[in-house]
Amino acid sequence: MSATVSFQGIGASPGVAVGHAFVIDARKVRTPKVKLKPTDAEAEVMRFRTAISLSDKQLEDLKTKLSTGAENEHALILEAHRMMLHDPMFLVEVTRLIKEETINAEWAVRRVCRRLRHQFDNLEDEYFRERKSDIEFVADRLVRNLMGEVVDQELEVPVGAVVVAHDISPADAAMLVKTGKVGAFVTDLGGHTSHTAIVARARDVPAVLGLGNAAEAIRSGDVVAVDGRRGLVLVNPTEAQLALFRETMRRQLATEALALKTAELPSVTIDGVRVRLNGNIEFADEIPSLLAHGAEGIGLYRTEFLFLDRPAPPTEEEHYQAYKAVLEAMGERPVTIRTLDLGGDKVPSNKKWEKETNPALGLRAIRYCLQHRDLFRAQLRALLRASVHGNLKVMFPMVSGISELREARSELEACRSELSRQGVPLGRRVPVGIMVETPSAAWIADRLAQEAEFFSIGTNDLIQYSLAIDRQNRDVAYLYRPMHLSILRMVQHITDAAKKAGIPVSMCGEMAGDSSLTLVLLALGLDEFSMTSGQIPVVKRIIRSVSMTEAKELLTKAMQFSTAEEIERFVKNEMDKRFANEA
Ligand code: PEP
Ligand code: MG
Repeated sequence: MSATVSFQGIGASPGVAVGHAFVIDARKVRTPKVKLKPTDAEAEVMRFRTAISLSDKQLEDLKTKLSTGAENEHALILEAHRMMLHDPMFLVEVTRLIKEETINAEWAVRRVCRRLRHQFDNLEDEYFRERKSDIEFVADRLVRNLMGEVVDQELEVPVGAVVVAHDISPADAAMLVKTGKVGAFVTDLGGHTSHTAIVARARDVPAVLGLGNAAEAIRSGDVVAVDGRRGLVLVNPTEAQLALFRETMRRQLATEALALKTAELPSVTIDGVRVRLNGNIEFADEIPSLLAHGAEGIGLYRTEFLFLDRPAPPTEEEHYQAYKAVLEAMGERPVTIRTLDLGGDKVPSNKKWEKETNPALGLRAIRYCLQHRDLFRAQLRALLRASVHGNLKVMFPMVSGISELREARSELEACRSELSRQGVPLGRRVPVGIMVETPSAAWIADRLAQEAEFFSIGTNDLIQYSLAIDRQNRDVAYLYRPMHLSILRMVQHITDAAKKAGIPVSMCGEMAGDSSLTLVLLALGLDEFSMTSGQIPVVKRIIRSVSMTEAKELLTKAMQFSTAEEIERFVKNEMDKRFANEA
């Protein structure tokens, strides 16, 4: 076997896969360059028009093939390609070159596309820079059609193959995932927001992109191990490395199998206590996976991710489109959209951000929004406009006291009045809730519960602020203990306050998806848990196999210990007794 080579790229779609490489020939279509006789120019323009119609028809056919349910995203990409084909500037420029410079259509198409690509090169926005490759795909299709080559030939990918390419067109990526045979994607170009990444994530196919020069180094048939979370690709791995990958894969497959079995079942304890299991998302394309894993709604949509890869904030319309897409994809299921939690570690990459000595305690989340009202208002208006498209709830992050909640609420009300004065249709009344993630909010939960319609406990921050440990700092990571008695008491205090006031209480921090803590959290009285899609099935399985009575007994005993280590040890023992043989 050849020597092991490893590549580090961008982990664009999580998951682990091992398979034989299927290298897609990424060689460029050679463009013939021919000088025409002036008298042939008209006929050449006709040839160009015919190629446009043919390309358009091919894209339309592809769209029809793909236009079912979750593939809708792909259909939109193909529609964008069709729009590029019909772009008046493009048509006029190619025609002009054919007529004035008397060059053949292939050459003219390439020249105009090259110019367009240069314009995209200078854009700061990553998303738009990525669209450069879309121009390339459209140009390739046109040139191939002009030359009478075969386009959209069905690639016979062997089951489980790792598809390796310099770049993959969105059309090819969509067709390939639809076959259900692709084990993973590995490409030299692309990044988190490229369409291959979007398509791969939406279908749970692991992908590592942006590898630079992997496609040349990998031969069809090589064994390739892909870790889509870490962005790691191993070519011809050693037996030991393979064993590790296979073990991770085995665990993931077992979890998936479980997911399929439990997706439709309610999360209810054997003594009839019903809780809701929701999903956390950063991007809309995570929704199909969430639904497949049985999420009943979205408990946390981290909207700041709309910001992070761009130089300028999204416009109200961009916010609106993003929320509309999520609400429509979720139908009647509740969708909790959290207003921007910028600041702390979540700082837009291209924006000059005021350096703070202590960003976690600085101008973050609701504090930032209340000081940047235009930004806040654009988001609130978009949320209210989007509310007609589904079952929306709005949530404010990092509220530390009543005044912040009141101020944020009154801004929302002001936006509502403004919109209704403008005659904009608004949906049903939107419940407004808060993240409880500061100790101050926890201790006045009874008062906050009078003015908020729901709580969601953000344990990532609640632990950070309560135990005084920076969640980014590795040196103090050992102190990050969800089972610290102070955290359990605080969560108990929050759920009690919510219950007294009659409002639902959820948890959306990482702790909610940790299946070793499910019994403890059930007993603490959560109504809803929100987590990443892959965690839902295991948590549901546990909930369905225990009673609230035993969960409460376990919690009472656990809280008699004093240190986090003792509580953890006790809870782990109890969980092992019950679930040691589960996947
Ligand atoms: C939390 O703090 O627990 C939370 C869910 O929010 P984030 O991780 O986005 O700060
Ligand atoms: Mg938080």
